[in-house]
Amino acid sequence: MASAKEDRKEGEVVELARRRGFLWPAFEIYGGAAGFYDYGPLGALLKRHIETEWRRFYGIGEGFYEIEATTIAPKDVFEASGHLKSFADLAVVCKSCKSFFRVDDELNINKKCPGCGGELVEAGELNLMFQTRIGVSKGESTERDQNKSEGYLRPETAQGIFINFQRLIRFNRDKLPLGIIQVGKAYRNEISPRKSLIRLREFTMAEAEVFVDPREKNRHPKFETVKDRVMKLVPGEGAEVEKSLEEAVSSGLIANEYLGYHVVKVGEFLERIGIPKDRLQFRQHRKDEMAHYARDCWDIEFLSDRYGWMEIVGVADRGDYDLSVHAAFSKADMSVRTEVEGDAAAEKVVPHVIEPSFGIDRIFYALLESSLYNEQVGKEKRKVLRFKSEIAPIKAAVFPLLNRDVLKGKAKEVVQILRDESVFAEYDGSGSIGRRYRRQDEIGTPYCITIDYETLEDGAVTIRERDTMKQVRVPVADIKGFIAEK
Ligand code: AMP
Repeated sequence: MASAKEDRKEGEVVELARRRGFLWPAFEIYGGAAGFYDYGPLGALLKRHIETEWRRFYGIGEGFYEIEATTIAPKDVFEASGHLKSFADLAVVCKSCKSFFRVDDELNINKKCPGCGGELVEAGELNLMFQTRIGVSKGESTERDQNKSEGYLRPETAQGIFINFQRLIRFNRDKLPLGIIQVGKAYRNEISPRKSLIRLREFTMAEAEVFVDPREKNRHPKFETVKDRVMKLVPGEGAEVEKSLEEAVSSGLIANEYLGYHVVKVGEFLERIGIPKDRLQFRQHRKDEMAHYARDCWDIEFLSDRYGWMEIVGVADRGDYDLSVHAAFSKADMSVRTEVEGDAAAEKVVPHVIEPSFGIDRIFYALLESSLYNEQVGKEKRKVLRFKSEIAPIKAAVFPLLNRDVLKGKAKEVVQILRDESVFAEYDGSGSIGRRYRRQDEIGTPYCITIDYETLEDGAVTIRERDTMKQVRVPVADIKGFIAEK
């Protein structure tokens, strides 16, 4: 259960998110469970807006098609993908309180138990997948039946795309490259979930799987459009450098154009939704931290005031690993007959996969943290979430200046006019105007609209902008245009 003490421990961002209805610890009335959060009304809106922008970016912008595969899959899938064997974290266990901890950079075997100070001993590798049973038990059954009924909750959305590859490539008239996206829940039974949204047991991923002819990996058709982009790169071995994408690819630091293109695109997306560039860096995985499927992998990290640099997106070159293992296991043919420009002979190839993999919850956190400002206004302090308008949960709040029926009625009328024009607006009539402004600032509403007695005469309202706090008079009929223009 979340106590006030825990709130303070978790810091200002999570405290605000709880208080204002963005984010709540799940199962609170039953004492809670580590690693699970529910999104409240404003959080659900904000998260949906991030996902909408993501779909706009990859679905419309890159022309990638979205699919929706199942979140549960039989054992075969994860046996083939390697997750059953390799999707595990090294853990330690406390000898006195028996708590398990994941071994990572912050906690290693030499340290004492963070809970009770007891001695930590190695507990081996623990698999992170949630197991489930598909269907009712049939008693005695063959090993094949058992494999069919043993199921797992997906730890990433990617496998649902790989196992449909034959149908997808047919849908694309047997042409490469092919980009497929998916947004949905993933489940990982993390050993020591903590840091609010950073390590969850149920979270949302947005993934793109880009299938490419291996002979074309250094010929991305839109490389020209991004090659001059300069990034802060932290190589797997060696010191941090600032390089343009072109330099990074030609020097071999980033493995190929396709991978490089997608690394840059991730940065572009994050900036588009409002995460500042100076809080982002691109870090290459060291050989010893590379996932079992990856050839080269870059994390896009966000500099959090609270947690330091943290991974929010990973971009991996998965090679032909996934299609090859599924081909071997299922006996399905995962190759494509394609020709390379200038080379007349069509050849059968197993495509390679470049995968940008976004953790939406971590991005949600990064957006909250980097949008939150504490400002001094005259003698007062205000907290303000400076969300971009496209991302803000509520676009406009409408207030009656005074608690009078005629003003309240007019304000509600204006709310409905905005709603009819597809502007997400809310009515707020409680507390003083100052309190209402503070509340809307804290939830990032870009515009507050006040109805006063003059409105009844001249049909104009006062619009106050969140960031500048400037107020202007605008006729009711022009509110939507005013907002859209801004
Ligand atoms: P990975 O497949 O481990 O590279 O994860 C891809 C992305 O998913 C990461 O960059 C994170 O943003 C996100 N992610 C991974 N594990 C978790 C988790 N336990 N809780 C929240 N987000 C996660």
